[in-house]
Amino acid sequence: MAKVVITGGAGFLGSHLCDRFLAEGDEVICIDNLITGSAENIAHNFGNPKFKFINYDVTNYTYISGEVDFILHFASPASPIDYLKLPIQTLKVGSLGTHKTLGLAKEKKARYLLASTSEVYGDPLIHPQDESYWGNVNPVGYRGVYDEAKRFAEAMTMAYHRYHGVDTRIVRIFNTYGPRMRINDGRAIPAFISQALNNEVVTVFGDGSQTRSVCYVDDLIEGIYRLINSNVTHPVNIGNPDEITMLDLAKEIIELTNSKSQIVFKELPEDDPKVRRPNITLAKKLLDWEPKIHRSIGLKHTIEDFRKRLGC
Ligand code: NAD
Repeated sequence: MAKVVITGGAGFLGSHLCDRFLAEGDEVICIDNLITGSAENIAHNFGNPKFKFINYDVTNYTYISGEVDFILHFASPASPIDYLKLPIQTLKVGSLGTHKTLGLAKEKKARYLLASTSEVYGDPLIHPQDESYWGNVNPVGYRGVYDEAKRFAEAMTMAYHRYHGVDTRIVRIFNTYGPRMRINDGRAIPAFISQALNNEVVTVFGDGSQTRSVCYVDDLIEGIYRLINSNVTHPVNIGNPDEITMLDLAKEIIELTNSKSQIVFKELPEDDPKVRRPNITLAKKLLDWEPKIHRSIGLKHTIEDFRKRLGC
């Protein structure tokens, strides 16, 4: 049985990670200041003696008593709406938060996993993106607060690995969706699903030809679980290479929800990446991992969860 610390554990991905480690019989300490997460995401674990929730901001000195085996640093605003509203907090949790939690890993001799992102590739000049690509990021653009925080976090993680010998992992997560996503977090899938379920107009940015490759949350969690249990210390892409245009995704969701919604087009946000698709050769080779859940199934589970929460 391992003792696992998960920062950002009350968020979308963090809460699924808490569930996974608890299901494996591990003890989980979830640290979250609920800035973008919600206690509802973890409420089902509150009676579990192996689960502990600490409401705390990890940009401050972070200490846990006793032994710790794994630390997974997932705390960070993650959707564009959140990090544009919380630019300083985003930069702080990627920099100071990563520093503080790496310090904890060093002290506890714990294995450390950083949740990085495909946004480190920025608006990519190569397609699909593999881990050797250095990215095309505008540091002073609005999205720079998130992209650069994560790039700094990766550099800090590698520095602790090289100079302090901390046993580290870096996962570059590509767009992931599933139950517990915040309904109004501004990301395409929650927006399309809630608009379609309410029979409101579905808003697609630009002409909808920009692409994303979306991964169902259970597949992502499996990849992360394999990565932390591997000995791979360089960054690994985890995502689903199944690429789709935003317009087709909107149409697919309207169909799956049997909605009467019409599509309207809105101006493309600044620095919005035009294409995004992971090259997952490394994950296949080193972790024997690839996504298994087809988009139609993943979207059905997500729509079901949204129906319950929206009461429709
Ligand atoms: P989320 O907003 O649902 O979860 C993030 C959690 O971190 C929230 O519960 C929030 O309250 C918490 N948090 C933020 N700042 C904190 C701080 N200073 N101290 C303590 N807690 C803090 O977002 P998510 O989608 O679950 O993303 C989780 C992680 O995965 C993030 O690091 C994000 O960058 C990364 N990621 C997510 C995706 C995706 O598609 N969801 C893609 C790439 C990377």
